[in-house]
Amino acid sequence: MPDIIQILPDAIANQIAAGEVIQRPASAVKELVENAVDAGAQKITVIVKEGGKSFIQVTDDGKGMSETDARLSFERHATSKIRKADDLFAIRTKGFRGEALASIAAVAKVNLKTRRPEDSLGTHIEIEASELIFQEPCNIPSGTVFTIKSLFYNVPARRKFLKSDAVEMRHILDEFQRVALAHPEVEFHLYNNQSPVYQLEPGTFRQRIVQMFGANYNDRLVPVTEDTDLVRISGFIVKPEFARKTRGEQFFFVNDRFIKNSYLHHAVVTAFNDLIASESHPGYFIKLEVNPVQLDVNIHPTKTEVKFEDERFIYAILRSSIRQALGKYNIAPSLDFDNEPAFDIPLKKNIHQVKQPQITVNTGYNPFAERPAGGYKKMEGLLPAEWPEPVSASREIIIPEESRHIQTSTGFEEDTVHLNYFQLMNKYLVAGTDQGLFIIDQHRAHERVIFDRMAEAMEKNKVASQMELFPETLQLSAADASHMDEMLEDLQCMGFDIEPFGTNTYLIRGVPGDAAGHQPLALIEGLLEDFRSQQKLNRTDRRQRMLIVLSNKMAIKSGVILNRMEAEQLVADLFHSTMPYTSPSGKPILFRMSLEELDEKFLKNRN
Ligand code: ADP
Ligand code: MG
Repeated sequence: MPDIIQILPDAIANQIAAGEVIQRPASAVKELVENAVDAGAQKITVIVKEGGKSFIQVTDDGKGMSETDARLSFERHATSKIRKADDLFAIRTKGFRGEALASIAAVAKVNLKTRRPEDSLGTHIEIEASELIFQEPCNIPSGTVFTIKSLFYNVPARRKFLKSDAVEMRHILDEFQRVALAHPEVEFHLYNNQSPVYQLEPGTFRQRIVQMFGANYNDRLVPVTEDTDLVRISGFIVKPEFARKTRGEQFFFVNDRFIKNSYLHHAVVTAFNDLIASESHPGYFIKLEVNPVQLDVNIHPTKTEVKFEDERFIYAILRSSIRQALGKYNIAPSLDFDNEPAFDIPLKKNIHQVKQPQITVNTGYNPFAERPAGGYKKMEGLLPAEWPEPVSASREIIIPEESRHIQTSTGFEEDTVHLNYFQLMNKYLVAGTDQGLFIIDQHRAHERVIFDRMAEAMEKNKVASQMELFPETLQLSAADASHMDEMLEDLQCMGFDIEPFGTNTYLIRGVPGDAAGHQPLALIEGLLEDFRSQQKLNRTDRRQRMLIVLSNKMAIKSGVILNRMEAEQLVADLFHSTMPYTSPSGKPILFRMSLEELDEKFLKNRN
């Protein structure tokens, strides 16, 4: 038997090692931008194309490299940032492993131009798959330009596993955001396929947050500061009332490096404890400064977790400084229950805040007339066998003109002969029929009705838009704008008249007919919120989710008093649905008690 162990050729070894550091275009962007920061740049420009798959360019005005250093920088373990083991315990730079450029060069075509301020000529290098193609002098402003083309062109297996451009772009945005927030003193620019995504002027941390997340953040931020021997804390928390259902705006930086740390996250969450709903997440932008000796530096290049030596103390200090900030700025708990799905609303609260019903009443509507072709026919034969025929009296209902808009708190007045419905606790509709008693959750019923109507209209391409009197502009963070771009076509199909209107900005001119009377911005915010937590859906599922969210937001809430007409129309519409028993999100809409069941109860009680 011959010996079988062989040393891998450099090229293959490099490719394998590269896989650890450079997993996707976003990793290359992160490494290049961090190098630029380490080089003391004051201005960094990032240009990407096709989610970074075909093109990434990072330009900085930092200290540049000499001819020799430029060539050496692509060698594995080549770094200017540490020299001896002890240096590992005093790291102030982002990089120190000397692996990033070697890794990128192993799996891409790299072009480097760099010049130190003190040199009159710069140097220009091209490398493909770790092989030097050429190196020659060049004329450029001082600083460094790295251009990465065709990432993973020589590693088809990796290339194949890259996601869509939009998804890769989102990863790039995440990395970009983290570095840009960590260094508000540096000017940053990001372009995607030629169009500007971020133009960030140097400024304070607060200014940077506001630049990145939108002007309305200025009022949402509450400063947090604490200075102890162990740790210096600075930054901001987001006021509790703006807590989100999806995680996202949660940033910890340790010594200007973005980190994730579930233990410290927990400290923040407990500080917010009684101030936000349990399913919401507090937002925060918090910088910690600790002596580097107290940090475990052996951080894997792609990992963002770090270990502190005194984690428990830092936990306590962080928690108390956030409590203090919340107290100092006098943030009283002010939960906005109205934004919650209506079925979770405690009834008490709403009894005193009765709102006008939001459904539009078609006064000429006869709920029991045959439906015109379409909706009604579709469900013939699909309804459960026990589905009620409304009692005959209601076929003759004629409501006098003047009483059509009368609102009653019970829905029940004189005229009980004709009335099959009444509203219970401003929340349930009770329908008596000769099939028994139906108790219907008004919010969920309306959700179902809206959902069906919009789905049907979309299927038939017949969605009507309702023009807004005053078009509204919507300014989003770059991350949300990329979500928006993905949703745009579906939104238009649903009847939103909406279009891009400059960088990360959209103009809303109209909303779906069913949404008349609703705040377009609130509807869209609701969709974005859901989108953030549902990114992996395919197109059809996503449309479905969007309809679920919209119908939830648009449906009448519990606590809203319905007049007779409205109640009747709602129940009639529900009875036309093919799915009257479950709401679009899968919750029960109604339950029925048959005459037999009723009779049985009375029989039992007799003894
Ligand atoms: P590390 O950052 O861990 O040192 P890299 O592979 O990222 O390793 O970079 C190798 C070296 O190349 C760095 O230590 C630095 O000296 C040099 N370098 C990389 N990018 C730049 C840049 N934009 N400007 C100046 N020097 C750079
Ligand atoms: Mg580096």
